[in-house]
Amino acid sequence: MELEIPEINGKLKGRIFEIIREQADATGEDAYIVGGFVRDIFLNRKSKDIDVVTGSGIKLAEKVRKALGREAKLTVFKTFGTAHIDYRDTEIEFVGARKESYSKDSRKPVVETGTIEDDLARRDFTINAMAVKVNSNGFGTLIDMFGGLADLDRILLKTPLDPDVTFTDDPLRMMRAVRFASQLGFFIAAETFEAIERNRQRIEIVSAERITEELNKIMLSPRPSVGFELMEQTGLLTIILPELTALKGIETRDGVGHKDNFAHTLKVVDNLSAETGNLYLRWAALFHDIGKPKSKRFDPKLGWTFHSHEYTGMKMLKNIFTRLKLPLGERLKYAENLVLLHMRPVALSDEEVTDSAVRRLLFEAGDSIDDLMLLCEADITSKNPEKIRKFLNNFRTVRIKLKEIEEKDRLRNFQPPIDGLQIMEIFGLPPGPQVGELKIAIKDAILDGVIPNEYDAAYNYLMQLAAEKNIIKTESRTKNPSI
Ligand code: ATP
Ligand code: MG
Repeated sequence: MELEIPEINGKLKGRIFEIIREQADATGEDAYIVGGFVRDIFLNRKSKDIDVVTGSGIKLAEKVRKALGREAKLTVFKTFGTAHIDYRDTEIEFVGARKESYSKDSRKPVVETGTIEDDLARRDFTINAMAVKVNSNGFGTLIDMFGGLADLDRILLKTPLDPDVTFTDDPLRMMRAVRFASQLGFFIAAETFEAIERNRQRIEIVSAERITEELNKIMLSPRPSVGFELMEQTGLLTIILPELTALKGIETRDGVGHKDNFAHTLKVVDNLSAETGNLYLRWAALFHDIGKPKSKRFDPKLGWTFHSHEYTGMKMLKNIFTRLKLPLGERLKYAENLVLLHMRPVALSDEEVTDSAVRRLLFEAGDSIDDLMLLCEADITSKNPEKIRKFLNNFRTVRIKLKEIEEKDRLRNFQPPIDGLQIMEIFGLPPGPQVGELKIAIKDAILDGVIPNEYDAAYNYLMQLAAEKNIIKTESRTKNPSI
């Protein structure tokens, strides 16, 4: 079906489209803009990547690169017959129209040259399977063979072909369905949804990197719960993140139940997502109670308890991050620390809380303290407005205490003023437990407010400790070595 739609022409203005049009006219081949860019015209979303399907692919890309000038960078992938242009903040991908067939146990298709219709049929959803012609002859004409425009209107994700074929050919598309639903607020058509349920096990042939790319997009969507609920309902979640489905359900004993920690977790992630776009803070929220199933006990007096679930949860993260190919360095550490500390601010809301407890949290959270407070506030999922008010008020008090102590003691990213190396030098000690003990004693004295966070006070305190332990100083102290 070919359609003339006035709003398309308005979106295809500008130098890039003019050049693609001129160059395609010059080579005499048909060229189309396809997929996400076309969809986003109708959704009024800004699209930075433009996919162009054309007879020659690489040849047109080379001409367009030349015409765009030196600012445009061209990369050619000969084996795939594709080319890529980076031009200012836009990326343009050129491919020849393709027809693909798949073997059963791989995502790698056998590719043949095809028509634009073949090319659109191998795409994932009808809303992503539209093309717009960019030659002068027919510029702006929409090709919509699968009813993509109607599905955009119905806010519906539907595969262009039989969904069992689309999903067996490339199971990543199941994750893309969930991701688009979460990211764009679309519904998944019933027959498409059922096909995901049927084919879910095939997600196992998709690499962790590709799955995580979609998970990250789900995590960054306005309400990530939409994506995770859909993954749960289709059965994808048990395969990808069984630790999360383990949070599901309510057990009752002696008439006492606990909350459903899966629903609670998703609410926390949504609450937090309303406040921040920080991806790894959102991941930390998703995993904040991940240790609960393992630490769940029933106590006849206390009811259900989840003692140390924050520690158990923190310990589980490395495994999950490794499996999902999420980054293991600083970002894992950041998420681990947030999971470990997420119960601590609650304890600080007590009127009687000591400065020492506040200092310890500041020390342990470091630069993550503000993110930790956001997580704790998002963790309030009570339905009782009176309770919500009370908890929020408690956290306001904690924030005030944190600020007071922080300003007074400069404890964020605090390093004790005398480190292990200096202790070894002062006493001529070899590395070992004795040095560690002295170091910890200085840190504790500062955090407990016994001495101020200053070199001289720490030095005098160290001398006092050494005298008690009969450790003898080997070097005379000249001056503060850190100055
Ligand atoms: P976004 O760029 O916002 O993530 P998009 O729809 O543009 O969304 P891309 O990954 O950029 O997604 O892909 C561009 C187009 O290529 C899609 O619109 C779709 O037509 C097609 N496509 C991408 N991945 C697949 C896939 N796994 N199976 C079928 N078609 C796909
Ligand atoms: Mg895209």
